[in-house]
Amino acid sequence: MTEERKPVTNIKTPMRLEFRYSAGEATSRFLRGIGQGKILGQRCPSCRKVYVPPRGSCPRCAVPTAEEVELSDKGTITTFAIVRVPSENIDVPLPFASVHVLLDGADIPFFSVVQECPVDEIRIGMRVEAVWVPKQELASTLASIRYFQPSGEPDVPFEKLAEHL
Ligand SMILES: [Zn+2]
Repeated sequence: MTEERKPVTNIKTPMRLEFRYSAGEATSRFLRGIGQGKILGQRCPSCRKVYVPPRGSCPRCAVPTAEEVELSDKGTITTFAIVRVPSENIDVPLPFASVHVLLDGADIPFFSVVQECPVDEIRIGMRVEAVWVPKQELASTLASIRYFQPSGEPDVPFEKLAEHL
């Protein structure tokens, strides 16, 4: 078979997908709270776990969550990854630490990034605090929390975090 008669088996095509979706009641309340500088979770009426961001129900108990809980903007790193490649939607200098932060009062960790700390000092159990945009720039978007930074408090022992990983 000549080259021009062979089937084309591979092509490169630039692709882009955009999604728009409705935040729903629980996420809308959460985002409105962020717009006021508050982090709002919801407590399950059955197992008492506090979810943040709330989804409106407890995945373990399959019951709606309605009780709102205002959480601290301080927490503890439960896991992390060091990012060395740029990302279109995270506008912080490389390398940076992508982290799960267990906010004080919450039972599941919250995703964010850490700045103001060398990446080789990031560790599980490290205490961090949110750095918000200036009050006049607060909006109903997670971009209102610019990043987390070390709070300077003593580390939390792993045994106290193991249940929340
Ligand atoms: Zn539950």
